[in-house]
Amino acid sequence: MRLTFLGGADEVGASSTLIEIGGKQLLVDAGIRISPRTSRGIQNDQLPDLRPISEAGGPDFILVTHAHTDHTGALPLVVERYPHVPVIATRPTVDLVRILQADAQRIMHSRQEEEGELPLFDEIAAERLMNAFQPVEFRKPVRLGDSLQVTYVPAGHIAGAAMLVLESDEGTLIMSGDLSLTDQRAVTSAAIPNIKADALVLESTYGGKLHANRLAEERRLIETLRQIAENGGKALIPAFALGRAQEILQILLAYRDQLDVPVYADGMVRAVCRAYSGFADWLPANTVRAAGEDNLFFRNKIKAVDNNIQRDEVIRGGDPAVIVASSGMLTGGASVTYAKHMAGDPRNAILLTGYQDEEAPGRFLQRILRDHQAGEEIALRLDNETVSLRCALGSYSLSAHADEGELVSIAERLGAPEIMLVHGDPGARHSLATNLRQREKHVQTPRIGQTIEFSFSRRPWAIGGAIQSGAHTRPFNSEELWNALKSEAGNFYSAAELARMWWGDPNRAKDVISALGTDDIYFAADWRSQTSFRVRTLEQVNRSERARLIMMANPDIVGKLVVLRDTNNRPRVGIVHNAGIDSFEATVHNAKGRHYSGDALLWPIAPWPAFPTDENGKPSLSATVQAAKLIQDQVLPLHRRQEIVQRGQPV
Ligand SMILES: [Zn+2]
Ligand SMILES: [Zn+2]
Repeated sequence: MRLTFLGGADEVGASSTLIEIGGKQLLVDAGIRISPRTSRGIQNDQLPDLRPISEAGGPDFILVTHAHTDHTGALPLVVERYPHVPVIATRPTVDLVRILQADAQRIMHSRQEEEGELPLFDEIAAERLMNAFQPVEFRKPVRLGDSLQVTYVPAGHIAGAAMLVLESDEGTLIMSGDLSLTDQRAVTSAAIPNIKADALVLESTYGGKLHANRLAEERRLIETLRQIAENGGKALIPAFALGRAQEILQILLAYRDQLDVPVYADGMVRAVCRAYSGFADWLPANTVRAAGEDNLFFRNKIKAVDNNIQRDEVIRGGDPAVIVASSGMLTGGASVTYAKHMAGDPRNAILLTGYQDEEAPGRFLQRILRDHQAGEEIALRLDNETVSLRCALGSYSLSAHADEGELVSIAERLGAPEIMLVHGDPGARHSLATNLRQREKHVQTPRIGQTIEFSFSRRPWAIGGAIQSGAHTRPFNSEELWNALKSEAGNFYSAAELARMWWGDPNRAKDVISALGTDDIYFAADWRSQTSFRVRTLEQVNRSERARLIMMANPDIVGKLVVLRDTNNRPRVGIVHNAGIDSFEATVHNAKGRHYSGDALLWPIAPWPAFPTDENGKPSLSATVQAAKLIQDQVLPLHRRQEIVQRGQPV
């Protein structure tokens, strides 16, 4: 077992670890550093050290602990390089990454336009990432090889966040990801598995710290907000769009009987809240039940601010209000706009609730808030502008990370003799390491680029031994085998294993490979090896069947102008130039010749006479794209497309 730390070791940011275990190369997370100076774009020094990945010949699997950008921001770059490597994550993580990636694209575009800075990756890379995702359930082992499996276990922290339990014939390794042992309102606490690990990679964000009592902090926040409202002021709560903002909105909902001023959520917060509604089954039952038929977040005078006009109304409006807006450190986004307008009025307040980076305006406020009185004037730098700050300030501890006491208890529970501390500044890691060493643990604090190797005693390890050896003499029937295996959906099996299950004979792997090929409805071939197969989920099977039916119903689709659904569920006009059993290739404006699943086909319009050609008479991609754009603007004008997107309905 070998671990190479590519980033996020002695820092909070750019988390990424390459792990060689059970004969496979796994990449766990690929995040970026978010520093205030560069928060508006993504630059090279924000990336983890990706070189060891290619030196290792590329990963076999990419495993993602949770959606936060410090764990996922660099994934499009890796997937662009290794497009066929499965990226495994929980469903909420997939949904949330989609939103974060769309936001990153928007920011990189505006940066390119304003400052001419080239984006690190484009929309296509981001779409490729979305296509590479394979969602998993909590607590359901996913086999990654003959002697390796991973289980995603709830880690608290934010919706969908997981600890990874890697079991192999080389021993058991647990990657903690970011975790929290406190029940939050928008996510329940971590469920520490009842398992003895050989090695543990543990986050240490709050090493050296003990958290305040959560309920007391909530009440203190509500009491402050009530006083501000009574004095006719407004309160701004800058909050991280993903995680903290949802938590604060849920706290405000829980105390509506004590505080019923209007609440406005602005910035990326809105999109993330809407995504949460899409995976309510992953959220705390109480929270979902409290919403009943209503929206999870937007009810009881809590509203989303949807456009600049509404934002202006909130800013100019004279009545008390609470505004929850991203970013959480006042480094950009809606919270900065509000802060600029609100900071000058001593009746108002800015209330911080989360981690503040060293150079962030939020950290400056944290430093001065103990001595600051409302009304006293202080110069505050916001977004290259100096504003005079006279409003009240406050800070509340509502952390989504375990504190030192909790981290120690997790390490004790998992019993790992080998512990590596990551995701913490040097002080935090030092404090936690000292504490653990006093408990007879062997603790390492790896540097970026460092490789740590273990050899635990080998043990024969039978994964999936429970599956009976088959005794069929008939030809291989993938539907029948899938029916027996569908509770294992998401798991990978080698052709030899499937052959053993069907005929009781692992030597007939070749027959399985030729039966399944690369486009079976029930089993998806692993693109890297083509000799192992993933059991598709029921949803994927249905989708694949639907795609086939649609392609069958449209046998003459090649050369036609069509409306199709892109990976972001937006309607686009394209020209089809290739068709398969369940998919087709089409040229769409702003996208290179690309592959679409059959069910992306919405509406064949008419034959398109011929592909435009260049001066040599060859089909010209750019001319085709231009033609597609022209037609798209006529058939689906921009305002019409925006309407459809606005309504947020599946097209
Ligand atoms: Zn996180
Ligand atoms: Zn993190």
